[in-house]
Amino acid sequence: MKIVIIGSVAAGTSVAAKARRNDETAEIVVYEEAEDISYSVYGMPYFLGGEVEKLDALIPRDSDWFKKRFEIDIHINHHVKTIHPLAKEIEVYNKETGKDFKETYDKLVLATGSYSLTPPPFSLATYENVFHVKSMDNTKAIDKYMKGHDVKHVTIVGSGFIGLEMAEQLTKKGLLVSIVELAGQIFPKIDADIAYHLKKELKDNGVDLYIGDKVETIEGNGKVVSLGTQKGAILETDLVILAVGVKPNTVLAADADIILGETGAIKVDKHMKTSTEDVYAVGDVAESFHRVTNRPIYQPLGSTANKMGRIAGDHLTGGPLGTGIFRLFDLTVAYTGLSEKEAVQAGFDPVVIHNIKPAHAKYVGGQEITIKGVADRESGRFLGAQIVGPEGVDKRIDVFATAITYGATAEDLFHLDLAYAPPFSTTKDPVMYTGMVLENARKNLPVMTAEDLIAYQEKAVPL
Ligand SMILES: Cc1cc2nc3c(=O)[nH]c(=O)nc-3n(C[C@H](O)[C@H](O)[C@H](O)COP(=O)(O)OP(=O)(O)OC[C@H]3O[C@@H](n4cnc5c(N)ncnc54)[C@H](O)[C@@H]3O)c2cc1C
Repeated sequence: MKIVIIGSVAAGTSVAAKARRNDETAEIVVYEEAEDISYSVYGMPYFLGGEVEKLDALIPRDSDWFKKRFEIDIHINHHVKTIHPLAKEIEVYNKETGKDFKETYDKLVLATGSYSLTPPPFSLATYENVFHVKSMDNTKAIDKYMKGHDVKHVTIVGSGFIGLEMAEQLTKKGLLVSIVELAGQIFPKIDADIAYHLKKELKDNGVDLYIGDKVETIEGNGKVVSLGTQKGAILETDLVILAVGVKPNTVLAADADIILGETGAIKVDKHMKTSTEDVYAVGDVAESFHRVTNRPIYQPLGSTANKMGRIAGDHLTGGPLGTGIFRLFDLTVAYTGLSEKEAVQAGFDPVVIHNIKPAHAKYVGGQEITIKGVADRESGRFLGAQIVGPEGVDKRIDVFATAITYGATAEDLFHLDLAYAPPFSTTKDPVMYTGMVLENARKNLPVMTAEDLIAYQEKAVPL
């Protein structure tokens, strides 16, 4: 059997490795149009901020490694131009020789990822100091630009996790950072009452925020000198980072009449098979199924891409919850399952609670974390959580993700036998409290409302 894979960052290499583990005899060939493969996209902001010293640390493997370790042939600098599903053939352009050739397959895997969006007015011209942070090539270009120019002020457009990670890292590098965000809150993925903490953390660390605003005008010929926003702010800037989201890279698929789903990504079944015989799609180019709603979602995350790769390589089933985590200065931000607004959109009648508890016993230095929990009012099924805090956020979010995966109710959370000693937790862990308070809320016992929480926050940390 010959398996051909297009794309070799998170999803493509994951399929290749899993397929090899399952089948020692298959011929596995990968085509990648860029120069670097299997690198840590996740580490790129930390290299640009200086926390990771050497770029090589993010590119641990090359084609030789895959050949030696897995007998997989990865061809870099090879762009796949077309797929011919009836002939089971692809056309490839070798960027080094400038020649085209044809390649046949028994099974084809599309792992072509996603591309970053360029909003207007940036899309209307080219500027030498405007960058995305999407690929290793982008990272090398930003690094080169920063080393060759006197960069003092950076404007980041968009406050998703990539924009926020860049804001943290470039602030720590000593640069002045402004964020322009179109939505009415920072990090629109989570609910506004939790995003409140992110706004405070950014302000405390000197990041300038332009929320509910957008860049409308650009001063500078070929190089951005200043930006004008819709609300009238003028931002003198030496470097612009665009982080307004990604779209699935579906060009090859659409040209080959492979069906796209309602999210715009390639429609797949639970084995990552597309509508076309013997063609699979994994990673940022494909849809996945939300484990709670069972509906198709677009979840462009490395954690999902790796899972999809394994599924396609192995034919297992499963589904993501949209679990995510990132650091914002001294705050950890994490979420899993459905937010309050997503639960309503999915047709649930959600019961929602806010739970402020120390991550471990206060008398040994425990600091407060804020948990927002969401459950289905009728069945008690636990649907999702969002957490912000300075410590202990990572382990709680993983317990919540596990609980949702196995269909836990709010009450089940309370009965979990979680490890306790004062340096690590409280006698009733914040996870257990969340279950307890959700259950009380379901039964209409008094709990803290979103309004109570904001009043509490305003009093504790006025902005
Ligand atoms: C700065 C940053 C930080 C991130 N941090 C996190 C994190 O902390 N946690 C997390 O879970 N996720 C994170 N992500 C998301 C994660 O990196 C992506 O979800 C993941 O890289 C997707 O992997 P992929 O293999 O599907 O696609 P991609 O990484 O987009 O790779 C696709 C590859 O396909 C190649 N390709 C495309 N078309 C062709 C063609 N026609 N011929 C040949 N090759 C082609 C491209 O060159 C590319 O190398 C981050 C993303 C960014 C940008």
